Amino acid sequence: MSRRKIAAGNWKMNKNYDDALQLIRDISATNPPKDIHTILAIPSIYLKNGVDMLMHIIGIDVAAQNCHQEESGAYTGEIAASMLASISVPYVVIGHSERREYFYENNAQLAKKVDTALANGLQVIFCCGESLEIRKSGDHVAYVSEQIREGLFHLSDEQWSNIVVAYEPIWAIGTGETASPEQAQEMHAALRSMIASEKSNDIADDLSILYGGSVKPSNAADIFSGSDVDGALVGGASLVADGFLEIMDALSKS
Ligand code: PEP
Repeated sequence: MSRRKIAAGNWKMNKNYDDALQLIRDISATNPPKDIHTILAIPSIYLKNGVDMLMHIIGIDVAAQNCHQEESGAYTGEIAASMLASISVPYVVIGHSERREYFYENNAQLAKKVDTALANGLQVIFCCGESLEIRKSGDHVAYVSEQIREGLFHLSDEQWSNIVVAYEPIWAIGTGETASPEQAQEMHAALRSMIASEKSNDIADDLSILYGGSVKPSNAADIFSGSDVDGALVGGASLVADGFLEIMDALSKS
């Protein structure tokens, strides 16, 4: 798949059923720009509603926020990639920093999750990003590059076409502090050039790299000004239909 502009939302563990349905209805009632690709990572329990209402009515794709690395079995409380595929969910987010931090998911386990997701026909939004400590040490590019190498470099050229990367500096997630447009562009360009030199130019050129970390209507246009910034993964601001629409519009105009 070639490089696309993508606005992705991540509801995380927010919204009870009635509120989730209302938000899905509110988003369905907007007129999202057609020249960008939009994805909403909603809680798994609402994915079937999302497939039926968002995908079928206005063409917004849905994503699961996680899946298990094994195909099936005795993993109480977990969700298999095949289950997502069986209800036509097209995407899964893998390696969000909250999963890495609170559920101790490491690069080796994430690489397996990527494999299982791809084997079941899902497309993967693979998250990476450094802590404030690593950013301050100046090792952020090396650290994030290693997350990409360990999580994705075993994939075939064909498999890379089903990968989207989301660079999300941990210090900017949910904090209100956004990376500057220059900081976002610097990391995106560094990752693209590392992938070009260590994998191939085609993979690097075709890869959509999203920025995530306190993106909101007021800063979206600036963030999207970077030539290697292909869109955003948006947490808090995706919980309000009008705000998310403004971000989609900013991406469409970028
Ligand atoms: C996220 O959850 O991926 C995220 C970037 O959150 P926020 O936009 O709230 O910082």
